[in-house]
Amino acid sequence: MNELVTNSSPLLPVAVGHIATLRTGLDFVNTLDLYPVPHDHLENPEAALEWLVEHDLLHREVRTHLLAQFQASPAAGAEILAKLQRVRQAMRGALEAAAERRAPNGADLDEINRALRTHYVYELVPAPDGVSLDHRHQGDPVDGALARLVESIARELIQGETSRLRVCENVQCRWIFKDTSRTGKRKWCSMRSCGNRAKVARHRARRRLASPSPGSAEHRGGG
Ligand SMILES: [Zn+2]
Repeated sequence: MNELVTNSSPLLPVAVGHIATLRTGLDFVNTLDLYPVPHDHLENPEAALEWLVEHDLLHREVRTHLLAQFQASPAAGAEILAKLQRVRQAMRGALEAAAERRAPNGADLDEINRALRTHYVYELVPAPDGVSLDHRHQGDPVDGALARLVESIARELIQGETSRLRVCENVQCRWIFKDTSRTGKRKWCSMRSCGNRAKVARHRARRRLASPSPGSAEHRGGG
C-alpha cells in the first residue's frame, strides 16, 4: 500500500509509489548522460533495474529475482536492457520533436505505443484515513515500469505545456527538461554546469573580438 501525498487537485491523489511523475519520466530519458563525460546510467541490467527500484517503479525483490534469472540466461538480461534503451531513445525523440515544435518520428511513436500497451491495474484500497492507491501487477514487471514511464511523457505531450519543454542548448549535453522559470526563457538544464559553460564561452568570445590578435586574450586572462 502506498502513502498518499496531496496534489493540487483534491480528486487526484498521487501515490508515492508506482506512478511515474513527469520528473521521473524526464530523469529516465536523461539517464543517457553526455556531459561533462558520457555515461549511461542504464549501462547493464543491474544498474538499469536499480534505477527502476530507486524510482519506485519496481519492487526490490523483483529486481533480485530477475538478476538471478539473468545469471542463468544472460541473453534475457541483454534483451531487457536493449528494450529499456530503445524506449528511452523513442521517448527522447518524441520530447525533442515537441520541444522543437515538429511532428514526431513515426517509429518513435510505434515504440512508445508498444510500451503503453502493457496492462497495469490501479486500485483504490481502504486506508485508515480514507483511501489509498494500490496496484496489481499483470505480466512482466519491467514492461509495467516502462509503461508508467512512457505514460508520464504521454500525459505531458497531450495535456501539458509542451511549449515549456526544452532541450539543453549545450549541444554536448542535450538534457531534456521542463522550463518552470517565471519568464520561460531557460536555455540550459542547469545554470551551474551548462549555463555557466555558455557564459564563460561568451565571455571568451567577447574578449577575442576586443583583442586585435585572437588567442592572446586568453593569456592576458585576469588582467
Ligand atoms: Zn545541459
